[in-house]
Amino acid sequence: MIVIFGSGIIGLFTALQLLNSGKQIIIFDVKDNKGSATDASVGMLAPLIEAKPYENDLLNLMIDSKKIWDDFLKKNFKDEIGLKKNSSLLVSINEDEQESILFKKKFLEKLGFFPKFLSHNETLSIEPNLNSNIRSSIFLENNNQVEPPLLKKFLLDQIKEKKGELIFLKKIEKINFSSNNLYVNERKYFAEKIVISCGAWSNDLLKESFNVEFPMRPIKGASMLIKSKEKLFTNNIWFKNIYLAPRINNNIAIGATEDEKGFESSVMLDEIFFLSSKLWEYMPELEKLEFKNIKAGIRSNVIDGKPIIGSLKCNKDILCSFGHYRNGILLAPISAEIISNYVLEKKISNKHLFFSPKRFNL
Ligand SMILES: Cc1cc2nc3c(=O)[nH]c(=O)nc-3n(C[C@H](O)[C@H](O)[C@H](O)COP(=O)(O)OP(=O)(O)OC[C@H]3O[C@@H](n4cnc5c(N)ncnc54)[C@H](O)[C@@H]3O)c2cc1C
Repeated sequence: MIVIFGSGIIGLFTALQLLNSGKQIIIFDVKDNKGSATDASVGMLAPLIEAKPYENDLLNLMIDSKKIWDDFLKKNFKDEIGLKKNSSLLVSINEDEQESILFKKKFLEKLGFFPKFLSHNETLSIEPNLNSNIRSSIFLENNNQVEPPLLKKFLLDQIKEKKGELIFLKKIEKINFSSNNLYVNERKYFAEKIVISCGAWSNDLLKESFNVEFPMRPIKGASMLIKSKEKLFTNNIWFKNIYLAPRINNNIAIGATEDEKGFESSVMLDEIFFLSSKLWEYMPELEKLEFKNIKAGIRSNVIDGKPIIGSLKCNKDILCSFGHYRNGILLAPISAEIISNYVLEKKISNKHLFFSPKRFNL
């Protein structure tokens, strides 16, 4: 039996991967916990857009995970999870922003990727509903998207079908685990290994239970869903401060704010203002867009910007998978694969060992 803590995208992907490799699993989560990052996320699968200088290990991890997503595109459940093969346009509206996207283009070329530069007219010929203030764009093919709420439902249904158990408790503040004996709120379970995938809350559980704490902090984010009368966009569109993901039924997901607000999980007025005012800069006719909803979630951000995936030094049967920050949806499949290799005691490749807690001597 493998016991997983946390039923966000990371815990659910891990659970399904382990069930598929023949393990029994129980997932624990806490009732009424607000601010799951997965529930607020937009679901972009865009490693090249997210790539930053000096983060090659992370980019390679994102690219490996993207390959697993690309395999899902060939499967017939792709519509059930809103998985779309589309591309991304990174748009500039002035000289400064054009410099910045040209810098990104050069950076990607150094990595061996060759996005196309599109002029004002070329950009508008691909996306005619963009505002006329658009200056230029770069076009990155095959930077896809998935719909997190549909994906979560799909994973939960699959886990249920394969007899995985999901238990919600009022509180889980401290657990005890040694020699396969796991105590959760004083109830005993047999567990070969446990997986901590509580996103931004992982540190709380690890610190209370095992006196282990990572250099990690919560970063709040809000995303919004709007609807237009007719289809406006074909591709994912990235502006300087926000991005848009066109969905079915003319829905458009808009991401995202990034704020140091601790574990605050309610949507505040400044977040509504930020997303709608930035949107107005690119799409002034706001009166033509229906507001559907807005959600806030807490991302877990490790000090070096990379997720923590692997076993703890103090007990190799305690596995960590958290700290996925802005890219947890994209990184969920590869994270599940790595954790499954730890569980099945397979050899971990050097490029994945890099993400283990050992880099913090923990
Ligand atoms: C606004 C926004 C937009 C984003 N857009 C994208 C995007 O486009 N593409 C992308 O790849 N990523 C995106 N992300 C990032 C992505 O959502 C996260 O990296 C990912 O969802 C993290 O998943 P998780 O399972 O680790 O955490 P979470 O989804 O936060 O799940 C953690 C779970 O642990 C549970 N938990 C807490 N404490 C305990 C406990 N003590 N015991 C048991 N369970 C517990 C919580 O209740 C929760 O269910 C976005 C995030 C935000 C906020």
